[in-house]
Amino acid sequence: MTASSPELDVLAVFAHPDDAELLCGGALAAGVDRGEQVGILDLTRGETGSRGTPELRAREAAAAAEILGVAVRRNAGLPDGALEDSPGARRHLAGLLRDLRPRVVVTHWREGRHPDHRAASALVTSACFLAGLRNLDAEGTPFRPLKVVYATAFREDAPPPTLVVDVTAVVERKMAALACYASQFEGNAAAGEVLPGGDRPLFDQIRAHLAVDGSRIRVRAGEPFLTAETTAAPSLGALGVATF
Ligand SMILES: [Zn+2]
Repeated sequence: MTASSPELDVLAVFAHPDDAELLCGGALAAGVDRGEQVGILDLTRGETGSRGTPELRAREAAAAAEILGVAVRRNAGLPDGALEDSPGARRHLAGLLRDLRPRVVVTHWREGRHPDHRAASALVTSACFLAGLRNLDAEGTPFRPLKVVYATAFREDAPPPTLVVDVTAVVERKMAALACYASQFEGNAAAGEVLPGGDRPLFDQIRAHLAVDGSRIRVRAGEPFLTAETTAAPSLGALGVATF
C-alpha cells in the first residue's frame, strides 16, 4: 500500500478546512505551477464551527482544492475544538504522513487565535519526527519529512519570516479558493488568524497582508513562513531582494 501511495513535494497540514487556503494557498498554487506534487491534510472537519455543516465544509474544501490544483486532499478526522498533541493523535497522524510521504510539511505557527491552531503546530511537529521511528506503534513504513515550515501570515507575535514565497502570479487563485468557503467568510470581518482591519472587508484585508508580506521580498504579493533552520543560498552573487 505504501509503495503505491503518492510521494508529495509539499503537504499542508492544518487544523480546519480553509486554514491551508488562508495561510499558504498562494504558496501551494505556486508550487503546483512549478510542477510540484502538492497535498492538503485537514486535521479536523470543522464540526464545532459556528457556521456551516461538516458536509458543506467538505464540499467547499474539495472545490478549493481543485482550484489550487493540489494532487490530494485528505481529512485526518481528529476532533475539532479538542485537538491535542497527544500520543494517540501523534500515532494517527504519523500513519497518514507515512502514507503521503511529503518532502516538506507546512503547518500552523506555534501561536494562534484558535487553540486548535496552537495544538496543531505542536502535533504536526511531533508526528513528523515520530513517523520516522521504526518502532513507533503506527501504520505504514517509517518515513520522516525532510523539513517542517511554519506559516506566519497574519500573526503579530511571530518573528519576521525566514522566507517569503512570491505569490503574485497566483493571488486570484488563492482568493478564488477562499471564495469557495462561503459558509465561513460571507459577512465576516475576521476569519482564522485574520484580524479585522476596521470596516475593511475580509478579502481586502487578506490582500492587504499579501501586499505587506510581498514587499518584504519586493514583489506585489507574498506569503510568509518561518523555519527553525536557515535557508541556504547558492552564492552571495545569486542573492535577491534589494537593500535600498
Ligand atoms: Zn482554523
